[in-house]
Amino acid sequence: MSDLQNNIEKLETYLARFRETGVLNQIGGKACPAASGATFETTSPVDDSLICKVARGDAADIDAAARAAKEAFPAWRDLAATERKKILHKIADGIVARAEEIAFCECWDTGQALRFMSKAALRGAENFRFFADKAPGARNGQALPSPTLMNVTTRLPIGPVGVITPWNTPFMLSTWKIAPALAAGCTVVHKPAEFSPVTARILMEIAEEAGLPKGVWNLVNGLGEEAGKALTEHPDIKAIAFVGESRTGSMIMRQGAETLKRVHFELGGKNPVIVFDDADLDRALDAAIFMIYSLNGERCTSSSRLLVQDTIADEFEARLIERVNNIRVGHPLDPKTEIGPLIHKTHFDKVTGYFETARQDGATIAAGGSRVGTEGCFVRPTLFTGANNSMKIAQEEIFGPVLTSIRFGSEEEALQIANDIPYGLTGYVWTNDLTRALRFTNALEAGMIWVNSENVRHLPTPFGGVKASGIGRDGGDWSFEFYMEQKHIGFATGQHAIPRLGA
Ligand code: NAD
Repeated sequence: MSDLQNNIEKLETYLARFRETGVLNQIGGKACPAASGATFETTSPVDDSLICKVARGDAADIDAAARAAKEAFPAWRDLAATERKKILHKIADGIVARAEEIAFCECWDTGQALRFMSKAALRGAENFRFFADKAPGARNGQALPSPTLMNVTTRLPIGPVGVITPWNTPFMLSTWKIAPALAAGCTVVHKPAEFSPVTARILMEIAEEAGLPKGVWNLVNGLGEEAGKALTEHPDIKAIAFVGESRTGSMIMRQGAETLKRVHFELGGKNPVIVFDDADLDRALDAAIFMIYSLNGERCTSSSRLLVQDTIADEFEARLIERVNNIRVGHPLDPKTEIGPLIHKTHFDKVTGYFETARQDGATIAAGGSRVGTEGCFVRPTLFTGANNSMKIAQEEIFGPVLTSIRFGSEEEALQIANDIPYGLTGYVWTNDLTRALRFTNALEAGMIWVNSENVRHLPTPFGGVKASGIGRDGGDWSFEFYMEQKHIGFATGQHAIPRLGA
């Protein structure tokens, strides 16, 4: 039996229970359907087949989950951080033990290739371990003595929080948000994306099996405008950690205004990879290809705009075309596959719509530009050349395996093009001129920049964007800054003169 057939058989054993019960919510430690009994369907982008039904939670379910999170909060907040640390490590152990199941289900639900998803599951475990180890230090503060007072600061968890995640690498992103919230001492209501609900359910089960007390982590599936909106408006939810599109971020900010929600937004991107003619072009080529075509290009940090110096552009684009045409599109559970199908028919229509937009804009489709097969959401990896930065294909987040190549002459022009965009998540700079690298990174408008490297995530570093790409940072202590409140306490060190009114 081939690896693929073998994997498909295993997948069926993992999915069997979901086919029977559907994906349920979890509120106060109990698996439950939506209070209304409503469901929606999740389908596989491989062949559009039904995977299973999913509980379609609404405001009533969110209210029950928020109340459960509120009730569980004091005990979780006051539990010794060393105990929280142990539970979070156990969750990581549980993820590792079920990594194959998570990876297979994620591939089938999202269309992502196994070669990336098996690592994403393990990265999820790493996220839990990292924040588990940080939990005992989360409340640490400063001593800021003044002449008359010993001033100290400490941090306390903000309360029950809402976590709203998108459909791209949903498992990994959920762990990224939820692990620091739990480590900080917050309780959670999680609303996963409706296109990819399966692995959020598995993660939740792993957490409770690891000994997480009931109600500390609640799961409500549903649509953005129903369950998602209700979560952002709920008075018991103190903060919303959101990953998704920029325009959804705007909506959440409006929805949360009435209850003064603290928000953390990780939003869209249209990130430039800038290749100067003095760069190591072999490595630049590998990195540019990896950063747009891995994960089906459904990646917020993808390098979706190639800015290439005109002195090397012909050669660089020719090499790019050859490699792009060689990328293996196929079944996500085939270990050889490099690109699987896009998440859903609606997203497939959006991405393929840009093929026509590129033609209308006057760009050239130098590679790809078509679907693969007649079933499912498969597209050829695509390269647009002859583009300029004012075209829609250069300005809008396509969120697929689609790269737009734009040529530049001087460093000034490269910078102007790179910054001429509403987004500012990441940037990738390829040059061997150190002074230029320093000058360029200083002026490039992005939350994260890599020089002579693809995106290599290091958990202690800050992750997030500027402009329309986000508000706030994840990673290291920055995650705790979001999930915790600072508290200042001043202790008099003597009998300083207190102003006496009416004496
Ligand atoms: P989306 O904004 O459509 O949906 C994200 C989540 O928000 C889903 O769970 C959805 O149900 C929910 N939602 C939708 N409307 C809502 C509302 N009115 N109130 C509350 N919740 C609502 O995004 P998507 O299409 O699922 O994900 C792709 C987007 O996510 C891309 O723009 C991508 O760049 C971005 N993203 C950003 C990062 C980052 O770190 N910056 C990481 C991953 C993805």
